[in-house]
Amino acid sequence: MNEAELRRLAESIRGTVAGLRRAGLREILRAEPRPAAPPAHQPGKPGRSQAALAAETEHPSAERFSTETGTSPVEQEEKAERLLAVRNELGDCRRCRLHETRTHLVFGEGDPAARLVFVGEGPGADEDRQGRPFVGRAGRLLDKMIQSIGLERGQVYICNVVKCRPPGNRTPAPEEIEPCSPFLTKQLEVIQPKVICTLGACATQTLLQTRKFISELRSGVRLWRGIPVVPTYHPAYLLRNPAKKADVWKDLLRVLQILEG
Ligand code: SF4
Repeated sequence: MNEAELRRLAESIRGTVAGLRRAGLREILRAEPRPAAPPAHQPGKPGRSQAALAAETEHPSAERFSTETGTSPVEQEEKAERLLAVRNELGDCRRCRLHETRTHLVFGEGDPAARLVFVGEGPGADEDRQGRPFVGRAGRLLDKMIQSIGLERGQVYICNVVKCRPPGNRTPAPEEIEPCSPFLTKQLEVIQPKVICTLGACATQTLLQTRKFISELRSGVRLWRGIPVVPTYHPAYLLRNPAKKADVWKDLLRVLQILEG
């Protein structure tokens, strides 16, 4: 199936879901914005609330897939506080040598009760400068990937395996992943998403504890502590290999099916 066919299929799925809602079969889409969640992800840095993120990305007329989790505002705030506790535990982390060259530690951001979490490898130059994940060219492509399944950036959670930029954007070394990945685990334990989408080999191999190639792993859905994991290519790789976009479309459709399942 080529990219155009996959795009049509995604539109068809969105249309079907919209039709179900109009028929009143069940409440699976919503047009109204989510309540604002408290800022919690960059302590010590200028706060970027969920409301601010939503305001940047909101399309009031666009019907979006719900990210409702059944989580009450109190529970959502509790998750935000628990994420803040994880961030505080990291502190001014010097657990590996990546602290020596970082500008900012990039913890992660998004909805603390997100149903979908994207996990990348580590911050790049733009992310290191701004202290936020996926804000450069690859980040803009990730935004488009998120929008392609009817969501906005503020409705998901985005983080990385390592929180500090590896010099020259090299792949993080095992001795850097080993002290940092427990904090990724803690983030996921707090959020408890319905599905995790791993971006690239490092995130996929770290989460699934395997050395298999991403090309082999992305053909199916794996489990991390009972949560489905959909591996796909990293947006930075996609920028260099646009022919792989069709494969990523297939993976995103798998994510969509799990979210709507
Ligand atoms: S990469 Fe992780 S473990 Fe290493 S210094 Fe940064 S936060 Fe600490």
